[in-house]
This record gives sequence, structure tokens and C-alpha cells, in this order.
Amino acid sequence: MPEDKPIYVTQPALPPLDEFVASLEIIWNNRILTNNGPFHCQFEKELADYLGVKYISLFSNGTLALVTALQALKITGEVITTPYSFVASTHALWWNNIKPVFVDIEPATCNLDPEKIEAAITPLTTAILPVHVYGNPCNVYRIKEIGDTYGLKVIYDACHTFGVTINNEPLLSYGDLSVMSLHATKVFNTFEGGAIVCHDETMKKRIDYLKNFGFAGETTVVAPGINAKMNEVQAALGLLQLKRVDEYIEKRKQIVEFYRENLKGIHGLSVMKDMEGVRHCYPYFPVFVEEEVFGMSRDALYERLKQHNIFGRRYFYPLISQFPTYRGLESAQPGKMPMAEKITEQVICLPLFPDLDKTTIEKLVNLIL
Ligand SMILES: *Cc1c(COP(=O)(O)O)cnc(C)c1O
Repeated sequence: MPEDKPIYVTQPALPPLDEFVASLEIIWNNRILTNNGPFHCQFEKELADYLGVKYISLFSNGTLALVTALQALKITGEVITTPYSFVASTHALWWNNIKPVFVDIEPATCNLDPEKIEAAITPLTTAILPVHVYGNPCNVYRIKEIGDTYGLKVIYDACHTFGVTINNEPLLSYGDLSVMSLHATKVFNTFEGGAIVCHDETMKKRIDYLKNFGFAGETTVVAPGINAKMNEVQAALGLLQLKRVDEYIEKRKQIVEFYRENLKGIHGLSVMKDMEGVRHCYPYFPVFVEEEVFGMSRDALYERLKQHNIFGRRYFYPLISQFPTYRGLESAQPGKMPMAEKITEQVICLPLFPDLDKTTIEKLVNLIL
């Protein structure tokens, strides 16, 4: 029997409404709606503490944070990136007049394959923009080595990670900058929202100028900045979410463990494992379908779930390099990234969110078996 209400790949977690209304009353009383208001200041501080980082700048969304991160480092020319991500990671390059150079991924993590980066470097390359896909840490050690050797900046798209640690260190402490998204579909949301993590006060100041039109004082503009500020409503919600995010992640983890246990040993179906030394945040549950062995294609599985009112998502299909906007690029040509081209045809992400109930998951698993 199909579900009465559609089950989507995600459903945003929210705090109790009365707590949020209490915050709104404060905003209505003090009439500070944005521009570094009290909730913004408090959320920025508490978020940095939670994440274990020193410098963070809040943004209205992750895409503007990506665009601004590239501006802050004055990145130009060519940037090496992955085709296996949400389009915004490449769009951010395009909005900065930068040419994206796509490089293949490694199958174990679906992240940019560090061993293929060097072959893509040209005299025009200025930076690497890897994505911690599904919250799996990139090989940050090897990427740092390459960046240091060739004098390239590293900007991580950390939009899938929240509170992820690697060998007890925040994943966000790697790279020149890391960019987060706090969008409704992410593990931690402020409706829409984003952030840039950096490693010194001077850089934070520069980022803060850039997200506020370049203002460095009432009458001084030091850069052609943009408007990408987080408002007080978003920040107030963020503070309430922060109290619950550990619980959200724990519930996600339990669902992932249930999926893994019940989908184990099915021929032609593979799932990801936790990585050694990593505290994961479980943003997605990707399943990889090998049609010839499983006996059903990924798309047929997608349709079967849909008939039961359950909506998986093919993250990431198509590849960014396969969209009409980018497929003309040299690095986007078919056959150049065999691993990404294969995985994009196999992947489907199953519903995963804190309030997903056990009965639904059991039903879903039975539809797959
Ligand atoms: C969500 C996401 C973005 C964009 O973030 P928004 O806050 O939606 O603008 C960028 N990159 C990746 C990998 C994402 O998942």
C-alpha cells in the first residue's frame, strides 16, 4: 500500500514553535532585523564554539558564501573541482569568471580523486575546490600537500558536513576556507543560511566586508561587496537548532545503521561505511545499484519507490559536467571521468531525516529486497 503522505528524501527538523515565537517577540520588540544584530552575534559565537573553529562568518545562504569565498581569496583563471556535487559549487566559479576544470572522483567516498588533480593543473590554475560529498571527508592531507607544492589555494565546499571531525579535529580546520550551507535540506538548517570558516581575524574581517557591500565603516567601502548577510530570524532559529543538533545527528545515525543492517548482503546493491577516525553527520543515505547484478536498474528502483509515494533522489545525477551549461568544457567531455560517469548512473539516496519512522523504513527496505 502506498504511503498516504509522500515521504521525501528529507524533511527539515525544527524546534518547537513556541520557542521560536518567543525569539520573534524579542525581534519585534527591539526592531533589529539584520546587520549584525544580537541574535546574529550570539549565533556566530555559539556556532563557532560548537564546530570547534575560531573564525566563522554567517551568510544568507551557502551559494553566496561560495561566491564570496572565491572573492575573498581573489581566485582567478582555472579552478579544479568535482563534477559530482550540487550545481552551486561550479556555479560559484562561473559567477567569478573562473573556468571550472573537472577531475574524476574516487569510488570509496565519491570525492575528488587527489591522485588525478596534478594532471589537471595548468599555468592558469589558482585553486582547488573539492566537496566533502555526503559529509565524507576528502583526503585533506593529500590535497593540502598538492596545494602547498603548486601554490594553490584550497576552498572546501563543506555544505554536506556539520560537526564532522577527522582524527578528533574539525574537518572545517582544513583548507584556506570552508563553506557551509544551512539550507532547509541540510542536517542543520536556518531555513536558508550559510557560513564561511577561515583561520585568522584579518580574513574574517575581509569576508565580513564582502558580505555587506564592502562597507568597512559608515562611509568607507573597501571592496565591491555583495549583500549576503544572515538576518535575525535565521540567526534566532539557528540558536534553537544548535541545542538539538546532536539529537538530530544521533537519530540520523540510528536510521543509517538500520538501513545498513537490513540492506546488507544484497547482490548488486552497495552502501557506504563509516570512515575510520571520522565522526559523521549522516546527511544522506546513498545506495549504489549495479543493474546487471541487482536485476533492476537504479531508475526502475526510483520509479518503484515513487509508486509507493516514497521519493528517493538521484544525488548526484546528472553530473554537473553533463548539464547543457557546462558540457561544452574540455574537461567535461564524455569518457574523461569514468568513475563519476559510472557512479552517477548507479546512485539513489533514500529518505533520511530525524523524524523518519521505523515502519516507513521497514516498508521501504521491503520494497528494495
Ligand atoms: C546545498 C549545497 C550548496 C548550496 O547551498 P545553498 O545554501 O542551498 O545555497 C552548495 N554545494 C553543495 C554541495 C550543497 O549541497
